[in-house]
Amino acid sequence: MKKGVYDLFKLINKLYYTLKMFELGNLTIILPNYSCDRNCPFCIAKNNKKFNDDKLVGFDKLSDIFKQLRKNDIKFERIVLSGNGEPSLYNLEDLRKVAKIIRDNNDLFDILRIHTSGNIFWEKEKFDLFNTLVSNVEFDVLRIAINPEKDMHILEYKRNYIQTETFKEAKKIKFDIALTKELESNTFSEELSKLLHNNSNIGIIRFKDLMIGENEESQQSQWVKDNKMSKIQFSELVSSLLSYYNCKSINELSLKSGIKIVFENTGNYPKDVVYSRGIIMDYAEKPLDISKLQEMALKVDNTKTLSYYDFYK
Ligand code: SF4
Repeated sequence: MKKGVYDLFKLINKLYYTLKMFELGNLTIILPNYSCDRNCPFCIAKNNKKFNDDKLVGFDKLSDIFKQLRKNDIKFERIVLSGNGEPSLYNLEDLRKVAKIIRDNNDLFDILRIHTSGNIFWEKEKFDLFNTLVSNVEFDVLRIAINPEKDMHILEYKRNYIQTETFKEAKKIKFDIALTKELESNTFSEELSKLLHNNSNIGIIRFKDLMIGENEESQQSQWVKDNKMSKIQFSELVSSLLSYYNCKSINELSLKSGIKIVFENTGNYPKDVVYSRGIIMDYAEKPLDISKLQEMALKVDNTKTLSYYDFYK
């Protein structure tokens, strides 16, 4: 077959395959070994002690899971590599195995997201492994403050990853900024604007509430309750951002800045699933039957995203 005809055949095949797929939100691959170089006072992993194990279990089954997903025409908007701790603290050899499986199945998702404490930017080989793995890669870091000293102090880490060369090389950075009392609206817009100006690969800023976790009596939950941003502070923050960027609404703010700035609630869990210990499960750790995921995809109402702006009104 001539190359042009072959390419056309492949394209039609891919198009057909894409159209018949059912798409869910995030497939979060949880690396089960809890360990982290930060000590965030709100850490949900520490609080819930979920998905917790002392060794890399079940990863021999990850390829099989992808096979079953393919067989059942399920794809995802994102594959999220998450640590229940920091993913980059795994050894390189194990991470290579996981990376290969993800790359071999890159037609089953649009974006690869890597959760990180920031540690991956200090680990060049691990960073390179994921930054070039597929075409759409984003590194997702939660911050409590734009100011590095403040962020490092509250989250108890020692090195400012924003200064690394790898941070600048990252294809895309997503910052989740926690809505806590630590954000000062009078300096925030300027600090944010400087950060964005110096780092053009920061593509998404998402403002988010911190989760309380299942154990409401825990130290972590208490910290979240004590430090949650008030409604008044939230509206001051939004007003200062709108006025700094000369915008009338939050939607406009996202578009005009060239970067996506979003205020939204945490995970859209009904359409997100987790891979942990060799099986697919929901966030309540209930095992899911892959053949039933199509029904789940059909039931999802994408229009119902709860926005933080509504939440805080
Ligand atoms: S970076 Fe994540 S895993 Fe590490 S301490 Fe903070 S919240 Fe917990």
